[in-house]
Amino acid sequence: MRGYLPDFDVRVPASLGEALALLAQAPGTLTPLAGGTDLMVVYNAGRLKPTRFLDLSRIDELRGIREAAGAMTFGALSTFTDLRECAAVHRHFPNLVKSARATGALAIQNRGTLGGNIANASPAADTPPSLLAYGAEVELLSVRGSRRVAYDRFHLGYKVMDLAPDELVAAIHVPLPTGRGFHYFRKVGTRQAQAISKVCLAAWARVEGGVVADLRIGLGSVAPAPIRARHAEAVLLGQALATLPIEAAQAALLEDISPIGDIRATARYRSVVTRNVLGHMLRELATL
Ligand SMILES: Cc1cc2nc3c(=O)[nH]c(=O)nc-3n(C[C@H](O)[C@H](O)[C@H](O)COP(=O)(O)OP(=O)(O)OC[C@H]3O[C@@H](n4cnc5c(N)ncnc54)[C@H](O)[C@@H]3O)c2cc1C
Repeated sequence: MRGYLPDFDVRVPASLGEALALLAQAPGTLTPLAGGTDLMVVYNAGRLKPTRFLDLSRIDELRGIREAAGAMTFGALSTFTDLRECAAVHRHFPNLVKSARATGALAIQNRGTLGGNIANASPAADTPPSLLAYGAEVELLSVRGSRRVAYDRFHLGYKVMDLAPDELVAAIHVPLPTGRGFHYFRKVGTRQAQAISKVCLAAWARVEGGVVADLRIGLGSVAPAPIRARHAEAVLLGQALATLPIEAAQAALLEDISPIGDIRATARYRSVVTRNVLGHMLRELATL
C-alpha cells in the first residue's frame, strides 16, 4: 500500500546554504529528494520510512556541467538527459553517455539525477561503473565545509557510503582523460531498455606504444556495491596489446566479484557473464 501523502513534510530550500543549515539542525531526520525516481518507487510500495524530505530542486548551485582545470564537474542535479545532450560529455566520456542512455526510459532520464544514482547506492545502478572507470571524485558539502572522496572509496558496503547525515552530494568531478584512450561500456539486462542490470562493466584504458599504460574497470551488480576490478586490472597493466593475457585477467576477475543470485540472475550467471564481457572488452582493446 502507498504511503499516506499528508504524513510527509517536504522542505524546499531556495539556496544551498539554507539546505545545509536545515540538514545540520537535526542530522539524519531530513532525506534529500532530487528527481524522486528512486524515492517515489519506495513511497508507492508503502516502504518509505522517513516523513521529512529536503527537496533539492530549487538549488541552482547543484546544477550544471562545467569544464575547468583538466576536469569536468557535474552538479549533483545533472540529469541523465543533461549527460546525453552535452557535447563535451560525448567527446570526453562516451561511457557516461552510454550509461545515461541505458538508464530507464526518457521520463526517468529527464528526472533522475547523477547525485541520486550515486547516493541511492544500488549495486545495480548504471552510472557508477563508468564513474569508477573514469576515476571520478565525489564532492560532499555540509555546514562543516567541503571534502572530496575518490569515488572508488565512497561505497563502503551494501547501501553504506562515506556520506554523513548532514552532508549532500554536491558534485562529481571527473578528470579529463589524456592520451590515446579506449572506452568500453556494456550493460547486460533482460531487455535492451527498461531493464535493471544483471551485470554492468565499464572500462577506460590509456595505451602508449602498444602497451596498456593505465586501466580502470568498473563493475555493477556483481558485489554489494559498485566496485573496481583491481585484480584483473593488475594483471593487464603494462601488458602489450598484441599479447594481452585475457584468460589470466578473466581468472583474476573472479577474485574481484562476489555476485549473489536474485530474481534477475543466478550468481553463476553473473560470474560467467562478467568473465565473458571482460573477454569481449579485452578483444576490442587488443584491436586499438
Ligand atoms: C522505471 C524506473 C527505471 C529505472 N531504471 C534505472 C536503470 O536502468 N538504471 C539505473 O541506474 N537506475 C534506474 N532507475 C533508478 C533511478 O532512476 C536512478 O537511481 C536515479 O539516478 C535516481 O536519481 P533521483 O534524482 O531520482 O534520486 P531520488 O529518488 O531523489 O533519491 C535517491 C536517493 O539518493 C538520495 N539523494 C539524492 N540526491 C542526493 C544528494 N545530492 N545528496 C545526498 N543524497 C541524495 C536520496 O535521499 C535517496 O536516498 C530506475 C527507476 C525507475 C522508477
